[in-house]
Amino acid sequence: MNCDKAMRRYLETDNRAYVALAVKFHALRCARCRAEIARLDREFRALLRQAPFDAPPDLADAVMHAARRSRIENATNVGTGKWVAVGGAILSSIVLVPFSDSLIWLKDHFGGHFEVPFSIMLGVAISVYAALYIGTHLEQIKALQDAITRKLRI
Ligand SMILES: [Zn+2]
Repeated sequence: MNCDKAMRRYLETDNRAYVALAVKFHALRCARCRAEIARLDREFRALLRQAPFDAPPDLADAVMHAARRSRIENATNVGTGKWVAVGGAILSSIVLVPFSDSLIWLKDHFGGHFEVPFSIMLGVAISVYAALYIGTHLEQIKALQDAITRKLRI
């Protein structure tokens, strides 16, 4: 676990009484994170001593406005290797499923007309998967396209 991930997981815990074991383990090895967590713990305890808070009634608008302006990303990025591995598993299942005992069993129960809808379903699955990959990696694909276009011009 790197420092950014450890601090993100620490800040995600609502109740500071329970800190994930992985974060505690990282803090044991990393002096910078250990100091930051100790500082944040002091700050949170100081805030709790001043509770209860009287929030102004129009605080929601200010918070929502600040949240819209912030550049915090909540989405987690799945590595390309994982995308390729899952895509490879789907493709290999398309290739290997005609040889499986399960398909033979399904043919026995539903007849020979089962293969075409099953192949269509697998084709739809890989198409949806490819569309999800493209949709979530538009910026990377655009950067790759720009790089290829620049290389072709030279
Ligand atoms: Zn660290």
